[in-house]
Amino acid sequence: MKTQVIIVGSGISGLVLSYLLKEKGVDHVVLNRVEKQKALELPETVPPSTLALLESLNLLELFSKRSSKTFGYHSLWGSGPLRTDNYLHHNPYKFGLKLNRKEVLQDLEFLVSDHLFSYNHLKELQQNDKGISVLLEFENQPISIEGNIIIDATGRNRAVLKQLDIISEFFDNQIALSCHLPYFKHPHLIHPVFIESFEHGWGIVSALNDETNVMTLYTQNGSPLQHSLKDYENWKDVLSNTKILKDFLSDSVNPAIHVGNANSSRATQITGSNWMAIGNAAIAFNPLSSHRISNVVYCANAAANAITAEDRSASFQRYDDTLGKIFEAYLSHRIGLMEDVG
Ligand SMILES: Cc1cc2nc3c(=O)[nH]c(=O)nc-3n(C[C@H](O)[C@H](O)[C@H](O)COP(=O)(O)OP(=O)(O)OC[C@H]3O[C@@H](n4cnc5c(N)ncnc54)[C@H](O)[C@@H]3O)c2cc1C
Repeated sequence: MKTQVIIVGSGISGLVLSYLLKEKGVDHVVLNRVEKQKALELPETVPPSTLALLESLNLLELFSKRSSKTFGYHSLWGSGPLRTDNYLHHNPYKFGLKLNRKEVLQDLEFLVSDHLFSYNHLKELQQNDKGISVLLEFENQPISIEGNIIIDATGRNRAVLKQLDIISEFFDNQIALSCHLPYFKHPHLIHPVFIESFEHGWGIVSALNDETNVMTLYTQNGSPLQHSLKDYENWKDVLSNTKILKDFLSDSVNPAIHVGNANSSRATQITGSNWMAIGNAAIAFNPLSSHRISNVVYCANAAANAITAEDRSASFQRYDDTLGKIFEAYLSHRIGLMEDVG
C-alpha cells in the first residue's frame, strides 16, 4: 500500500489530524492499533477558551454532541479555602464542555473511517531517500505501507519516535490512578468537577453521567503512595484527611484501578525531514494544566497546515519552533501550578 501520510495512533490528535487532512484532500492512513485492554471511560473537561478553536475547525458540533455544558469547577489546595472558578465571565463562550472521551473518539473514527487501518503489531519502520515504510502485522498477516511522511500520534508512548531513536525529556514523574464510582452529588458543591490535594498527591472527581463519577488520584512515581493506591481498599485511608474528596468514595464497590502516565514531558526533536510528532507525543502537559485537549487539537491543526505547505522543510521547522515555545511557556506556568499544590 502507498500513501502520502501515515498517522500512527488513533487518539484525539491522530483522528483530528486525519479529519483535517481529509478536508484538505490529502491521501493518508491512520494506523489504529487494536488494543487488548478496554480503556476506562473518562469524562474530560474542555475549557471555554478551546471552543473557538473547535468552532474554527468545524468540530464544535461533534465535540458538543457527546458532551454536557459545564460552568466551572471547585478546588481545595492544602489548608486554603474552597475555591470556585466560574466560566461565566469568559467570552464568547460562557461555558466549557465535559465530554465522554470514548464517545467523541467513536464519532471522530466514524468521520474518517475510510482512512482507518487496524493492526495488531508495528514490527518495523524504515526511512530511506524516497520516504518511510512501515511493516505491520494484522491477525498474523504481514502488511507493508509506504508513505512520504509519518506522524507519531501515539501519546506519551512515542512509539514512532522510539523507532527513530528520538529521546524524551521528563520534567516530573506523575502517574494517574483512576476508577469508576457510583454517582454522588456533593451537597457543598455546585459544579460537577472537584479537585483536592492530600499528602503526596492530589485528586479530581468528575461526573461521567448520572450513574457514574470518575475519580483520579495523581502522585509521583516512586512516592510512598505509588503502590498502595493501586488497591481501592487503601483509598479511604489515603484520603482520610481530605475535607471533601473522601466523601465521594463508596463502600459498596471495589473498582479496578487503571494506572497511566501523566508526566510533563517533551520529545527532544519534534520534526525531521519526513516525520513529525503531534499531541502528547510531541509535548505532554501535567493534568493541572487545563489545556491538554486544546494543545492536542492545536497541534493537529498546525501539523495539517505544515504538511500541506509549499515549503515543507520551512513549515516543519516553524511547527517545531512553535511547539518548543508553547512547552517553554507551559514550564514557566507549571512552576506556579506546582506551588499551588504545595
Ligand atoms: C485520567 C485522565 C483524565 C484526563 N482528563 C482530561 C481533561 O479533563 N481535560 C483535558 O483537556 N485532558 C484530559 N486528559 C488528557 C487528554 O486525554 C490527553 O491530552 C489527550 O488524550 C492526548 O491525546 P493524544 O492523541 O496525543 O494521545 P492519546 O490519547 O494517548 O492517544 C494515543 C493513541 O496512540 C495509540 N498508541 C499508543 N501506543 C501505541 C503504540 N505503541 N503503537 C501504536 N499505537 C499506539 C493509543 O492506542 C491511542 O489510540 C486526561 C487524561 C487522562 C489519562
